[in-house]
Amino acid sequence: MALYVYKFGGTSVGSAERIQKVADKVKVAHDDGHQIVVVVSAMSGETNRLVELSKQMQQQPSAREMDVLLSTGEQVTMALLSMALQERGCPAQSYTGGQVRILTDDSHTKARIQEIDDTNLRTDLNSGKVAIVAGFQGVTESGHITTLGRGGSDTTAVALAAALKADECHIYTDVDGVYTTDPRIEPKARRLEQITFEEMLEMASLGSKVLQIRAVEFAGKYNVALRVLSSFAEGNGTLITYDEESTMENPLISGIAHNRDEAKLTINGVPDLPGIASRILAPIADENIEIDMIIQNISSDGNTDFTFTVHRNDYEKASKVLEKIKNELGAKAVTGDDKIVKVSIVGVGMRSHAGIASTMFKALADENINIEMISTSEIKISVVVNEKYLELAVRTLHAAFELDKVVL
Ligand code: ASP
Ligand code: MG
Repeated sequence: MALYVYKFGGTSVGSAERIQKVADKVKVAHDDGHQIVVVVSAMSGETNRLVELSKQMQQQPSAREMDVLLSTGEQVTMALLSMALQERGCPAQSYTGGQVRILTDDSHTKARIQEIDDTNLRTDLNSGKVAIVAGFQGVTESGHITTLGRGGSDTTAVALAAALKADECHIYTDVDGVYTTDPRIEPKARRLEQITFEEMLEMASLGSKVLQIRAVEFAGKYNVALRVLSSFAEGNGTLITYDEESTMENPLISGIAHNRDEAKLTINGVPDLPGIASRILAPIADENIEIDMIIQNISSDGNTDFTFTVHRNDYEKASKVLEKIKNELGAKAVTGDDKIVKVSIVGVGMRSHAGIASTMFKALADENINIEMISTSEIKISVVVNEKYLELAVRTLHAAFELDKVVL
């Protein structure tokens, strides 16, 4: 007998029929004698619908009221699923975040979990009930409803699995696992049996949308065995694990990630002096613009070019900041490009193997793809290329690292 936390995302509970299917699935596990906690998202589209409604009431909706509003989506699903289970003769009870007592800080709309009281859930599990918990929400010490940020139900599930010391946390979604790359770009992409937390974290922050980044961080920190599976199809999904050794397939590269939301900005001909980088980036940070890659070239005649990337949505704002500081820095020009993408290779195997970068760059060169920027970490290499090369670059790298081949 095992204790599982199952999380079902918006599409998995997107209609009455789908909630019935989820109930069937949960009942099978319960009948097998397992203890089950189910975390649910709002029905698909519901959270967005509520966001739209709020905008009709207030230009900048109050964060506290936003949380009261958005938390209702999950509350609908949890009650419906509980009813469906009871109808099947499976004892069940639903809980809001506050009813469990998922304690968070008071940063409304992006709260962080501080503590979970597992008393109510334990009592239910010990008396043979399925406990159903609304994802994405918590409560402050003084009783205000909070939410954890969009996609936050994944984090609720992982946090509950950690608090209850669950054997595994299953994230049921509309894909059947984590793939070597986006199958919409490369149909030969394969589902991975296993991937390490570190790799998953890189994949998630580089644009793979399978799991919320914070949930992966949380799972890594508390060593929660996490599995991503399809709620519509059978299969083992992908296990996210600590264990680099046990991965049966031991590829150098586990996956190719991409991110379309990039834009780059260059401030040309700035004096190469101490303090320049901080004088460029401080006003950018003051505007709350996040920076991703940074490059400073070697200088000639005491001047240098300084380039960095930002989210495409921040491109205009960042250009304006640079235009403003251009003169006081004595820079020659500000240039930029918002038609770029980032393509990355990720794999823990990189740590112990030389030559990965040159394989990557040669493969891109053979396709005449110009690399505009490069950045590396211990387990990833990212390049910025023109957006027209996105699909070609992903497919080329997928083939170059033989990710379509099953390694046994
Ligand atoms: N319903 C919330 C959202 O759409 C939380 C979640 O689905 O994880 O962001
Ligand atoms: Mg969701």
